[in-house]
Amino acid sequence: MTRNDRLSRLLPQRFANGTQIRRFAKPCPRCSQTVEARDMEGKMLMLDQKLFLAAHAACPHCGHRFGVACAITADKRVHRVRLPMWLYKLWMKSNARRGVTLVPPEPEWQTGEEPAAPEVASIAEAELTFADAIVGRFQGEAIPEACEWQGQRYAFERVAQPGLPPQCADNEILVRSHFVYARSAEPA
Ligand SMILES: [Zn+2]
Repeated sequence: MTRNDRLSRLLPQRFANGTQIRRFAKPCPRCSQTVEARDMEGKMLMLDQKLFLAAHAACPHCGHRFGVACAITADKRVHRVRLPMWLYKLWMKSNARRGVTLVPPEPEWQTGEEPAAPEVASIAEAELTFADAIVGRFQGEAIPEACEWQGQRYAFERVAQPGLPPQCADNEILVRSHFVYARSAEPA
């Protein structure tokens, strides 16, 4: 997942229950004609039984270019991802870096459900000091670049996966229920 691929080359994708996504298409927002995966370039990430997709599409009928950001569930329903494209890509990148990307699916992945991860609780606002600088916005809310907790500096890492219980590594904390911050090497 280090470069963009033609999406048609990343298909089919298989879910653990055997469902396969062989084809992906979107109507062009300008001319309403169908734009197929071969006219899209981007990335796919299979994670927790959802296929996340971020791509740039170029309509072969009218030349219009548009972004595609969605998550496909094993019932083949397509869900809109309500994140700005840059943040969504950042999120995909941060998850791919963790080595959870399953393209192509690995054999052990087809054997069944993974146990649900334990719920992570947000750190109380009162215990946190936020940096003034922001890295962006999530649903209108400013995302501070960094925060301090128990004398340690934490840098913004990613937005928790939409619709799923947030997961944190040992060096990470959950803030405001959907921002994940990772402990920085440098002192606070
Ligand atoms: Zn078009």
